[in-house]
Amino acid sequence: MGHYEKPLPAIDNDTRYFWEQCKKEKLVIQQCETCSNYIFYPRSICPHCMSEQVIWVESTGRGVIYSYTVARRPGGPGFQDDVPYVIALIELNEGVRMMSTIIDCNISDLACDIPVEVVFDEVTDDVTLPKFKLIP
Ligand SMILES: [Zn+2]
Repeated sequence: MGHYEKPLPAIDNDTRYFWEQCKKEKLVIQQCETCSNYIFYPRSICPHCMSEQVIWVESTGRGVIYSYTVARRPGGPGFQDDVPYVIALIELNEGVRMMSTIIDCNISDLACDIPVEVVFDEVTDDVTLPKFKLIP
């Protein structure tokens, strides 16, 4: 695989399982067994009730665009060939929000609240990134 010039996630004990599942093309989030709230980003303590009884569950991988912006100048040298590209906050059906991008879309088709689903982009041997596309 060629050299990847964009920033990569810093994988730690809280996030390792998330990235392992992305490699298997599964989107996982956490759920608190005490208060049932879904949690993203990954962490070891529930932000709603401080419980440590946090488990991994598979997400539907579907949601809507909560908000987005279009980058028309690259955010770094690695993004030079990508402009214009989309930076989007996705609200998954489970209610948590995830920062990502929308690929393979016409920017003029984008709007808040329209449905999207996850797709996976293997960018290095170790990292597969969850990205999103519009559901036709
Ligand atoms: Zn909780």
